[in-house]
Amino acid sequence: MTQAPANDLSAYWMPFTPNKAFKAAPRLFVAAEGQFYFTADGRKVRDGFSGLWCSGLGHCHPRIAEAIAAQARRLDYSPAFNFATPDAFRLATEIADQFPGALNHVFFTNSGSEAVDTALKMALAYHRARGEGSRTRLIGRINGYHGVGFGGVSVGGMPNNRKAFGPLLPGVDHLPFPYDAKVSGFTRGQPDRDPMAYLAELEALITLHDASTIAAVIVEPMIGSAGVFIPPAGYLARLREITAKHGVLLIFDEVITGFGRLGSPNGATFFGVEPDLCTMAKGVNNAAAPMGAVIASSQIHDTMMDATAFGIEFFHGYTYSAHPLAVAAGLATQAVLREEGVYARAAALAPLFEDLMHGLRDKPHVIDIRNLGLAGGLTLAADPEGPGRRGQALFLAAYEEGLSIRANGDTIAIAPILTSRPEDLEDIFSRLGRAFARLG
Ligand code: PMP
Repeated sequence: MTQAPANDLSAYWMPFTPNKAFKAAPRLFVAAEGQFYFTADGRKVRDGFSGLWCSGLGHCHPRIAEAIAAQARRLDYSPAFNFATPDAFRLATEIADQFPGALNHVFFTNSGSEAVDTALKMALAYHRARGEGSRTRLIGRINGYHGVGFGGVSVGGMPNNRKAFGPLLPGVDHLPFPYDAKVSGFTRGQPDRDPMAYLAELEALITLHDASTIAAVIVEPMIGSAGVFIPPAGYLARLREITAKHGVLLIFDEVITGFGRLGSPNGATFFGVEPDLCTMAKGVNNAAAPMGAVIASSQIHDTMMDATAFGIEFFHGYTYSAHPLAVAAGLATQAVLREEGVYARAAALAPLFEDLMHGLRDKPHVIDIRNLGLAGGLTLAADPEGPGRRGQALFLAAYEEGLSIRANGDTIAIAPILTSRPEDLEDIFSRLGRAFARLG
């Protein structure tokens, strides 16, 4: 076998990418440093999206890179089952210290999707362990994104992620999308709207199916992938009240909101609401190696530990759970987050970010803008020739201006690196302004 030529793009089938269009005009990154990528054709591209919401400390952080390199030389792999490394326990403790209340026990996965499926399985197994095995129904939300495993797609509510893949999990319902641009458009931060406008449906479902059949509700504290949609004030607290009243577990999918995006350790802390389970990934180790995790309440953990009829308390896990390289990246990331006060810095930057986001209001085709912490979303009016065209056009125009952002259909998301300085934010938005000008 010979080495493949660098210009042969046919073998790699790319994820969530229009492959044919990409391969006609590829965007290839060969290096990165801090806030910039460097492309194969010699360009420098500012990262306006922290990778994919995940590289909050910037790219190739020396401390994280060094930790991974040293770990690779010391212990590359340790079996995930029946063996562990001391550092895995250390990282679990550091994560648990950042979640509120009884959220105390961390189960490692390798991605957000795996974390979601793990959390759903934990919810089902927990109910069964305490003799409530009839609780099997799961509830997600319209426009929710919970990764691409069959569990996550089933509770997820983005149509394109679901429609090619058959009947999915049975017994899943979806709550309404908790946002209405006609009522809340261009709100800064959290909209002020009666949460029951979006939660009455949950009570109706509980009446319809009976609480004794419902295992869990899963939501993103802030809807991220669909385009940054902020829940109304009081929504998550009300959701917690209703679920708790009926013995239904509440899962926060914190894959985006974990580790600083909202200027706080996680959405549970930011919103002051304590769920039973949280998923995380991305920022946990700055995405320098694949890692995800679930944190469970002591109630769930201890119940499972007591139900030892099978010897192993939870029949679940991955070959790469708590992979030493990912853990090394995690410990280095957590040290930087802590020592450099990154959450507080991100919170301090949020008002400027909000102003810059809402400064786009008069740009062509903009019909809504939303923001929270260092997450921003805007919606473009769909091109009469087809939805998604304007979003993709702005994404490409931004790239021409040396800026990486994210488009999902006609919604655009911006997620600056958490350690940005004000001038970094200004630069993101001046590049974006020029990208809009290219759209005409
Ligand atoms: N849940 C949420 C809320 C996410 O935003 C994502 C990824 N954007 C996932 C799950 C899936 O994570 P991964 O791509 O690592 O599987």
